[in-house]
Amino acid sequence: MTSLTRDDWEQRANTLKIEGRAFIHGEYRAAVSGATFECISPVDGRMLVEVASCDLADAELAVQDARSTFNSGVWSRLAPAQRKRVMIRFAELIDQHGEELALLETLDMGKPISDALGIDVSSAANSIRWSGEAIDKIYDEVAATAHDQLGLVTREPIGVVAAIVPWNFPLLMSCWKLGPALSTGNSVILKPSEKSPLTGIRLAQLAIEAGIPAGVFNVLPGYGHTVGKALALHMDVDTLVFTGSTKIAKQLMVYAGESNMKRVWLEAGGKSPNIVFADAPDLQAAAEAAAGAIAFNQGEVCTAGSRLLVENSIKDAFVPLVVAAIKSWKPGNPLDPATNVGALVDTTQMNNVLSYIQAGHDEGAKLVAGGKRVMEETGGTYVEPTIFDGVNNAMRIAREEIFGPVLSVIGFDSAEEAVAIANDTPYGLAAAVWTSNLSKAHLTAKALRAGSVWVNQYDGGDMTAPFGGFKQSGNGRDKSLHAFDKYTELKATWIKL
Ligand code: NAD
Repeated sequence: MTSLTRDDWEQRANTLKIEGRAFIHGEYRAAVSGATFECISPVDGRMLVEVASCDLADAELAVQDARSTFNSGVWSRLAPAQRKRVMIRFAELIDQHGEELALLETLDMGKPISDALGIDVSSAANSIRWSGEAIDKIYDEVAATAHDQLGLVTREPIGVVAAIVPWNFPLLMSCWKLGPALSTGNSVILKPSEKSPLTGIRLAQLAIEAGIPAGVFNVLPGYGHTVGKALALHMDVDTLVFTGSTKIAKQLMVYAGESNMKRVWLEAGGKSPNIVFADAPDLQAAAEAAAGAIAFNQGEVCTAGSRLLVENSIKDAFVPLVVAAIKSWKPGNPLDPATNVGALVDTTQMNNVLSYIQAGHDEGAKLVAGGKRVMEETGGTYVEPTIFDGVNNAMRIAREEIFGPVLSVIGFDSAEEAVAIANDTPYGLAAAVWTSNLSKAHLTAKALRAGSVWVNQYDGGDMTAPFGGFKQSGNGRDKSLHAFDKYTELKATWIKL
């Protein structure tokens, strides 16, 4: 929580100097073509800044720069302990500029300022710090070889990494990639979403201040089909790390196959089940968590608990608790520190969410909370947290990722049926189980095809455990030491003794 008031934030917003240019070799510069696009705030429709619209020509420059910087060894060959010091300094600078970064994030993508500061910025700094701190504590291996052989198993930085990220947690998703990518010695080109480029652009300057050499971290704002595609097809990008939709994730695999077989690590969409059994230890806590699981960050969360599976014997009692709990999640001006639901990222996304609400009505689900656009007079894009009861898992609102605050409630009668419904989705990012029965908790957790499973909570976790998806939710893992695998190549060196 911040001591700044809404007026303080408004004032700062009015005087904030916003950078919209690309960042190559330690300098801000316009796109080669000179093209820009308007960055519009979803808070109230104000124009924030003209942003460089990079394309193939900028990708060429940035990749050449990243490659030559990597080959020079100025960063890639530093002792891990030296890189560690710089990464920790980078994390400190993110913390020190936390209020500015939080304000940029809120203005750019509409999330509440309290979340931007208390969650996004602090978690972003923490992920950079955690990766930096780890890097001089990782050892390579000596293989169990014959007496006259020495077999070294080493990990080397992979080279040039392109990181393409989404708009829902722009700073945090960038830092989940930057932490391990930079700590392991790579040169990185960040392509933020065209819907939320501002914190990524600002971050590049902080990296330079921290001591990351020019060219090691470049930022190319622009559209997916222009600069994103150029990076994904580039013959000199070694690894592509991505967070975004499953549709684009699949396209990136095609681009890699059509070009240089670059490694592609994908963190994609979700339609996560939140299973509440009749013997949940605390139904009130479960109801509050279910509301938060769909309303937090306006539902624009890859792990949003968008399918609430409730045992039929308690459903009539439980759904009203969730409906009551969601009332404490109210859209408001994101610059007000008391607001917990902000604006959706843009008009396109808002209309998309509203069309899913219409689909819920059309398919015969029963609206029990929310359902409307609100605060239209502000010029912003706000939608009430919405709950549909009486959903079945075949409906579009149960199958497709809405990426907004729309919850589908589905009943079940047995643990087997709950698991079958939970797993009946192309996605496999996350799931939760609420029960007091230890065996049921473990057996259900094992049966769920998801990369993260929470028991008697929703959305727990920190940097110590990997995060990523099964099935069409992706392949790689962010966070934890497992993330380092994506940014290194494994080498075997055989020495004849
Ligand atoms: P998106 O797939 O539309 O865009 C993601 C990024 O890809 C953007 O930077 C975009 O410009 C770029 N892109 C688009 N087309 C491209 C192309 N042809 N070539 C190269 N790049 C291209 O996703 P979004 O709407 O920004 O984000 C929402 C999605 O992100 C949701 O599906 C959500 O579940 C997912 N997400 C996943 C995680 C996770 O960790 N699994 C975390 C956050 C968000």
